[in-house]
Amino acid sequence: MLVCIVYWKKDVSMYQIWKGEIMSKKYDLVILGAGPAGITAGIYGVRAGLETVLLEKNYVSGGQVLNTYEVDNYPGISHISGIELGEAFENHAKSLGLCIEQGEAGKIHREDGFFRIVTEEKTYLSTTVIIAAGAHPRLLGVPKEQELAGMGVSYCAACDGAFFKDKVTAVVGGGDAAVEDAIFLSRVCRKVYLIHRRDQLRAARILQDRLMELTNVEILWDSQVDEILGEDHVTGVKIRHTQPDVDNKEEGSRELLVDGIFIAIGVVPNNQGLEGIASTDENGYFVAGEDCRTDTPGIFAAGDIRTKPLRQIVTAAADGANAAASALEYVEIYENVKVCKTM
Ligand code: NAP
Repeated sequence: MLVCIVYWKKDVSMYQIWKGEIMSKKYDLVILGAGPAGITAGIYGVRAGLETVLLEKNYVSGGQVLNTYEVDNYPGISHISGIELGEAFENHAKSLGLCIEQGEAGKIHREDGFFRIVTEEKTYLSTTVIIAAGAHPRLLGVPKEQELAGMGVSYCAACDGAFFKDKVTAVVGGGDAAVEDAIFLSRVCRKVYLIHRRDQLRAARILQDRLMELTNVEILWDSQVDEILGEDHVTGVKIRHTQPDVDNKEEGSRELLVDGIFIAIGVVPNNQGLEGIASTDENGYFVAGEDCRTDTPGIFAAGDIRTKPLRQIVTAAADGANAAASALEYVEIYENVKVCKTM
């Protein structure tokens, strides 16, 4: 026999315990992730009158924005730290009435007319889901990387750079993140090596120009890290020249003495547990266009987790707005109701 107990919780939501599962009330929209995409989707969702909840696995909002020392390419705000911007996002969304709960979707099930989003704490029922779970740093995949993580191996210069005051560090990568990290570390460290596997950076020109002005940054072109050295903390890296120049005797491997290594070689989508809910490309990004619709009706992908040419705070925020508009349209058509107050 199935037992269903219904009770009220102080925060006005109605919960049901059904077969041992704590069920939420039924939502129009569940958003996964409190980065710029998820927060913007939440702002647009509540303003449109959708019954919305945002689930964030961390205790703070901002996503990868939190790993950024300084944001200077978000319109209207010339300089702000990532942490301050994350806080501002959350405060703005909450001031409009967005409900943000801590939780990580372990699985999404498609049922008759709605989705069941299962977290460790409870199960949420919703007509639509916006996946805005973002991405996490890609691992280099070399010996000692994981053993020495937190002992000199870091994926976030803004978070850990201060521990390397007056020390020598290396940054790996050639994109915006690596160049930003090298610029940030140059203010703290005595010397910074930027190790890049090619002879050209892919970072934005403005960042490259700033980098080239720094006297304590040395770029090691055409170089690859083969191993991280050290027992209980990083003492160096073994690097290899990928385009050996015999005349310059740059051939083969050499050891570089560094106190820390910052790995900034791109990101990987946070799609764990969400596999199969909609189609992804070969790198695991959910396939969706500007309207953020995936090939599963009712499921939308916004921000860094969707296939897109430019992953920036501003493009993630734009996705959030588009995804909420698409979710609203879906709810109105699917449930044959007129919801929208304003967008
Ligand atoms: P990214 O643009 O994908 O660049 C990754 C870099 O790491 C590339 O230079 C790549 O080399 C290198 N790389 C990849 N795999 C490697 C490996 N196994 N070993 C050595 N090097 C490797 O990644 P990102 O810099 O993290 O940026 C991710 C996204 O966030 C981008 O869209 C970026 O524009 C955005 N972002 C923007 C800002 C900003 O606007 N201020 C800041 C940070 C990030 P190759 O060049 O040879 O491929």
